[in-house]
Amino acid sequence: MILSSPLTNQPLQTLMNLSKPNPTLVEVLTTEVAEKRIDPISGHRSLFSLRSFEPGECIHEFSAKATHSTPNYLTVQLAENKHIELYPEYLECINHSCDPNCMFDTTRMELVALQHIEPGDEFVFFYPSAEWDMDQPFQCHCGSLHCLGMIGGARYLSRESVNKYEFTDFIKSKFRR
Ligand SMILES: [Zn+2]
Repeated sequence: MILSSPLTNQPLQTLMNLSKPNPTLVEVLTTEVAEKRIDPISGHRSLFSLRSFEPGECIHEFSAKATHSTPNYLTVQLAENKHIELYPEYLECINHSCDPNCMFDTTRMELVALQHIEPGDEFVFFYPSAEWDMDQPFQCHCGSLHCLGMIGGARYLSRESVNKYEFTDFIKSKFRR
C-alpha cells in the first residue's frame, strides 16, 4: 500500500475545486456517507466521501444484489466462480486507482478505509485487490506517481506490486497456489 497520495495531500479546497460538482453538469445523489456524481455527458460516475475515515475503519457494509459465475465490469469477486453485483448499488461507482484509499473486504463484506479519508475525497480502490482476472482490462490513467499502467487483475501483477498492495482473502489464497 502506498501511504502518500498526490490527490489527498492537496489542501481540501483545491481538491474540492478539482472535483467540483457543477450542479448544471453533474447529477448528484447523496447518501449518509457518500455522494455519487454522474457526468451526464460522459456518463462517468464517481463516489466522494462526506465524512472522514481512519485506516481500517468500515466505510459501509455491502452485500450481493445478484451473483454471477463470470465477472463483468461492475462485479466484485468473492470466489473462483462467484462474482457479485454490489448492494448498495452506489458502491459500484467507486473507481480504480493505483493509489487506493479503500478496499472491498469480501470476508467481512465491508468497504474498508486503507488511508485517512477526508470529506470531499473520492473513494478509489485498486481493482486487482479483489479481481483475479478482470473482464475488461484497461490502461490506467489514475495519475498516481506509481501508476501501474495496464490493469488486468491480480494474476498479472509483479511480485513487487503484490507485496505493495492489500488484497482480499480470496486473492491471497490464489497467490499461495
Ligand atoms: Zn494507475
